Amino acid sequence: MLTTNATDKPNSAWDDWRWQLANSVTTIEALKQHINVSPEEEEAFYQVSERYSFRVTPYYLSLINKEDRNDPVRLQALPNIQELEDLFHIEQLPSFHRSAVDSENPLWKEGKTDVSCIVHRYPDRVLFHLTNFCATYCRHCSRKVHAGQESIVTDRTLIDKGIAYIAERPEIRDVLLSGGDPLTVPDTKIEYVLSRLRQLPHIQIIRLGTRTPVTMPQRITPEFCQMVKKYHPIWINTHFNHPNEITAEAKIAIERLLEAGVPVGNQSVLLRGINDTVEVMKDLVHKLLIARVRPYYLYHADLVRGAEHFRTSIDVGIDIIENLRGHTTGFAVPQYVICTPLGKTPLNPNYVIGTGPGYIVLRNYEWRTWKDPDSLDPS
Ligand SMILES: *Cc1c(COP(=O)(O)O)cnc(C)c1O
Repeated sequence: MLTTNATDKPNSAWDDWRWQLANSVTTIEALKQHINVSPEEEEAFYQVSERYSFRVTPYYLSLINKEDRNDPVRLQALPNIQELEDLFHIEQLPSFHRSAVDSENPLWKEGKTDVSCIVHRYPDRVLFHLTNFCATYCRHCSRKVHAGQESIVTDRTLIDKGIAYIAERPEIRDVLLSGGDPLTVPDTKIEYVLSRLRQLPHIQIIRLGTRTPVTMPQRITPEFCQMVKKYHPIWINTHFNHPNEITAEAKIAIERLLEAGVPVGNQSVLLRGINDTVEVMKDLVHKLLIARVRPYYLYHADLVRGAEHFRTSIDVGIDIIENLRGHTTGFAVPQYVICTPLGKTPLNPNYVIGTGPGYIVLRNYEWRTWKDPDSLDPS
């Protein structure tokens, strides 16, 4: 349990995020001390970790049901041999698909600037990468070739270049601090960036994209919250993919953010075998609402080398949305999106059956139809 005493010091090492980071599992030997590893998993570990980073916090490992080989946390955290098999499938793909996968992730090229920590794809907002480091490397990460591979914390010179880029462009009103996971950076460095951004009059909102409420909720300390609330409006988006991740510890982390006035949203990725059913997704969004987290996006899994085995067809995502919209609280339904090199594109079930002169035929969530006069088209 994450508890604190009057001095805000964690009660135990387990509740201290620095302990969680220092004791994160990066080797097969350490992994075996936490869970039973099958011979196939051990082999996958050796082969896959030559190519992609591996790291999991003891906390996130503790969420795994050890009896279940297909446990949703296990599948997100442990290397799988399919991460390498994807490489051999490329030859069989249609050429447009092959060139996309060959470039590791086609999305990175779009919005690249000459400042390496800034991605500027939409005129009014930028992505600002503070680090390539994460507390836990998700196997489905769309930046998995880069994750953990470069310098641990973006250095001060680069951060200053990022701030200068933003300062020179008054059209930017929204800065999204990302990574890696920006909350693996110490509070003092985060505060440096927040305070510099707040000196720019054109910056209306600052967002932090972090998975720490899921993989290392101990990171959301009272001190962090005290610091962040000085720089409002700050928004946080996190990344819960499965109801099992919404634990008592995660709820305390969210509670602290909300009490500091930070709205918390959630961006899930649709992952085959993890959350690709209506049942799991409905349970997830209901548990998010109980924790007062607003479902924001449901991402169609990116076309990324090494993560293709997580991808479902788009029909799966549309069917999930179809079975949420109208069937549950309106704001429990995330916007399903696919990232293309042109940006995020919404994917929705179709509720317009047809149109005619002066009318439109709609259907509702129960497939009952309704002919409505279309006042915008008097012809
Ligand atoms: C997703 C993304 C954003 C933020 O998009 P919103 O729809 O505003 O949440 C900004 N920049 C880039 C490059 C992105 O990929």
